[in-house]
Amino acid sequence: MCYILLRFYFNELTQCLNQNQQAMKEYLLRCPYCWHDISTVVQTNIVKQQYIEDCRICENPMQVVVDCVSNQITQLVINPIAQ
Ligand SMILES: [Zn+2]
Repeated sequence: MCYILLRFYFNELTQCLNQNQQAMKEYLLRCPYCWHDISTVVQTNIVKQQYIEDCRICENPMQVVVDCVSNQITQLVINPIAQ
């Protein structure tokens, strides 16, 4: 009984992990300060999200606002954050 429950739980967990992997998409952002392209990973199963990303080249922070519909990025806005 315990074994079956554990196995069921493990299957659920594996499915969950696979879904999460599919919901991560790499995306190229253009830094509003130095205009270099930097790659970021967007979680596309969240409908609306915003986060702070630091440019890997000039290290300035920018706010990234992402809209997603059924795991596709529909809009991505980058706002420079003045220091
Ligand atoms: Zn930069």
